[in-house]
Amino acid sequence: MPEAPKISHDHTMSDYSLTQKNKNTLQFIEDVTSSPDQVQNRVLTEILTQNANVEYLKRHGLYGNANRDTFKKLIPVITYDDLQHDVTRIANGDKSPILSSHPISEFLTSSGTSGGERKLMPTIEAELGRRSLLYSLLMPVMNQYVPGLDKGKGMYFLFIKSESKTPGGLVARPVLTSYYKSSHFQQRPYDPYTNYTSPNETILCPDSYQSMYSQMLCGLCLHNEVLRVGAVFASGFIRAIRFLEKNWTTLCHDIRTGTLNPIITDPSVREAVMRVLKPDPKLSELIEYECSKKSWQGIITSLWPNTKYIDVIVTGTMSQYIPTLDYYGNGLPLVCTMYASSECYFGLNLNPLCKPSEVSYTLIPTMAYFEFLPVHRNNGVTNSISKPKSLSDKEQQELVDLADVKLGHEYELVVTTYAGLYRYRVGDLLKVSGFKNKSPQFNFICRKNVALSIDSDKTDEVELHKAVENAISHLIPFDATLNEYTSYADTTTIPGHYVIFWELGLNETTPIPPSVFEDCCLAIEESLNTVYRQGRASDKSIGPLEIKIVENGTFDKLMDYAISLGASINQYKTPRCVKFAPIVELLNSRVVSSNFSPKCPKWIPGHKQWGNMNN
Ligand code: AMP
Repeated sequence: MPEAPKISHDHTMSDYSLTQKNKNTLQFIEDVTSSPDQVQNRVLTEILTQNANVEYLKRHGLYGNANRDTFKKLIPVITYDDLQHDVTRIANGDKSPILSSHPISEFLTSSGTSGGERKLMPTIEAELGRRSLLYSLLMPVMNQYVPGLDKGKGMYFLFIKSESKTPGGLVARPVLTSYYKSSHFQQRPYDPYTNYTSPNETILCPDSYQSMYSQMLCGLCLHNEVLRVGAVFASGFIRAIRFLEKNWTTLCHDIRTGTLNPIITDPSVREAVMRVLKPDPKLSELIEYECSKKSWQGIITSLWPNTKYIDVIVTGTMSQYIPTLDYYGNGLPLVCTMYASSECYFGLNLNPLCKPSEVSYTLIPTMAYFEFLPVHRNNGVTNSISKPKSLSDKEQQELVDLADVKLGHEYELVVTTYAGLYRYRVGDLLKVSGFKNKSPQFNFICRKNVALSIDSDKTDEVELHKAVENAISHLIPFDATLNEYTSYADTTTIPGHYVIFWELGLNETTPIPPSVFEDCCLAIEESLNTVYRQGRASDKSIGPLEIKIVENGTFDKLMDYAISLGASINQYKTPRCVKFAPIVELLNSRVVSSNFSPKCPKWIPGHKQWGNMNN
């Protein structure tokens, strides 16, 4: 297998050694993409040999056989629900080799949900190294397009989230929290490319306000050194700008005086910030001047004048934030560098300065064994109102290998990982857009079954439907019925929020007070999954849900419009989620009242059944 590039331990990395390191990394990418099938075969053999004794594989009749065809014949293609029982056993403390022969080091909590709870992905220690490897590929690629990034800093807003413990004592937390808390991140060897404005202590602060405040303050203090800015997702970066809008006067005070606001109480954060913060009245004046302007267009280039690009994911549902980022960044390039998940880190964008609409990801064949389920429009894969069904034997045989996907075709990604997922459907739909050597490159099309998303929340139509059903019980005393509804993710507000349009059947004599609709808003929120409720109650990354009551006949107009665009009158069904701007406009033009959720829904960290580690 091509050897992974070595990570340097040299603290005074010279231009020569950096150039050499970049060269090695690019060569690694050339090598693995030149013979994807051989690499994939070796990866699968390695995974199956390492895990020859695990219960899951034996249960399906694979006793140490590492042959690819036998593996495909015996092992079913599965979704999370098929794994739930094994996951629960591991969570409850069963340490026998159920999925992996290596000890499960922790659970990664995916933003995907099952039964309203986060999915728990078992992982092993060695996966941290694999994740670090993918990170180490990003900057050498970027350096080909924007040289000199080693001469300054990156201002990245990075956060940890709360973690919980399973009854068996394993930690459960998001993959990035796990990574930032690991020695791979905290004790990373000196590298000019991982030179960030945020000290580790500010990233690792569990209080999200203190973490954001201190990261923004350090970013402002070091403004001239900043060459790139970003966050993981576009929504996170916009939240940081919003934070600046609300807090710039206090931040300016700190910079002018060189003293840190007492609201920052975490001693390690205070100490770290004080290493950066020096009285700088001139800088404070500049920030005040720029931030008091009426328009914040181009605020990023005004405050961080040497910024070359904004590094955030704007593919998938995050594309809804492109106009806002273009506004704040005055058209700075938006760069999507990588494609990853809790299950596995997949790949990177080898042409990072391309337009967001053209981003394609090259899967790195050493990360896992990848298979691809062809998407036929009617095989249940894209039919969003129903839950994904198990695959028939015939469908299982349709899966193709990384080296066999076809240009222009769409596939659902299926992975077999070193950590013990075998033929697991990730839930992402990808389209082959080209090739790097012999390895395919993919456009991210969408996450299956996601109707609404603002941040990392993913709400499907089934869940939304149940939530709406729960809420309409509030209408019973008023003899009102819900005739039709649809929904929309409104990202024009910061943070964005869910909007549900309702058309009611009303008994004219009993008016419905607004407080009842507010109760309905809250009832919907209380019924949504834990990731949504966390976004609302803890992260504040999602705004209050809004119900807009529309005039009678609005949904007929919606149907007329869809038919005018070519929909079949016989097959027309009200869409339960709308995105197309003219349709949203049509709905908005017929709103008679707007009602917001009066408070945050309840949310506690961890699974419903478990305690919270912080308690
Ligand atoms: P999680 O398991 O919570 O880490 O979420 C992983 C999911 O986020 C992936 O399966 C994708 O659906 C989505 N995702 C991750 N990276 C990207 C990307 N670069 N573009 C679009 N969606 C992404």
